[in-house]
Amino acid sequence: MKSANLVIALTKGRILEETLPLFAAADIVPIEDITQSRKLLFDTNVETVKLMVIRGSDVPTYVEFGSADMGVAGKDLILEHGGDGFYEPLDLQIAKCRLMTAGPVTDQSDSDVLKVATKFTNIAKRYYAEQGRQVELIKLNGALELAPSLGLADAIVDIVDTGKTLKANGLEPKHLISYISSRVIVNKASMKIKNVIIRDTLSKLSTAVKAN
Ligand code: AMP
Repeated sequence: MKSANLVIALTKGRILEETLPLFAAADIVPIEDITQSRKLLFDTNVETVKLMVIRGSDVPTYVEFGSADMGVAGKDLILEHGGDGFYEPLDLQIAKCRLMTAGPVTDQSDSDVLKVATKFTNIAKRYYAEQGRQVELIKLNGALELAPSLGLADAIVDIVDTGKTLKANGLEPKHLISYISSRVIVNKASMKIKNVIIRDTLSKLSTAVKAN
C-alpha cells in the first residue's frame, strides 16, 4: 500500500532560512533550491513528503483547513489567527523575538482612549481588554513606527528583535505581550489519520531542535 502524502507548509522569508536546516537534520530536504524558486510546492528526498512555501499569515489557515497537514509559523501569527483549529506540538526555537507595545520615548497621550496602530489587531484587542484599557485600533500592514510621530496613533503593537527599528523612529518598547518563536502546527484530522508519519517527523524535528 502506498503511504499517504504529508504536505508541510513553511513560512517564506527569514524564517525559511532557519527552518530548512532543521528539516535537513530531520532528513527532509527539498530536491531543488526553494529559496531561489517561484514555485509554491516542492518535492523532497522523501517521496511522500511535499513542502509548500507561503506567507506566514496564511500557514495557520492552510493547516486549519487541512490543505497542509503540518506547518511552520511564527507564534505571533498563530496568536493573531487564533490557535484552536490545530495542534501546536513543537517549538522550533528559531526566529525568536518579542511582541510588544511601544510608544514615543516621551509619552504625551492623556486621552482616555488610546489610539494603537498594529497589524496584530486581534492580539492587541485581547491584550488591552485584559488590561482594562479602552483603545481604538488602527490596522496597518507596514511602517507602523511612523504612526506615532505622524499623530496617527499614541502607541503601536509590533515585533521587536534588537529594538533598533523602534529607536531609529523615536520609539521605545513599553510592555511585553508575548515571547515569539516559530512553532510546528498540525491539522487535527491529519494527526489522527497520518499519525505514524507525523509522529516520526515531529520526533526527528525535536531531536534537531535539541541539537541546534
Ligand atoms: P529590530 O529593529 O531588530 O527590533 O527588528 C524589528 C523589525 O524586524 C520588526 O518590525 C519586524 O518586522 C522584524 N522582525 C524581527 N524579528 C522578527 C521575527 N522573528 N519574525 C518576524 N519579523 C521580525
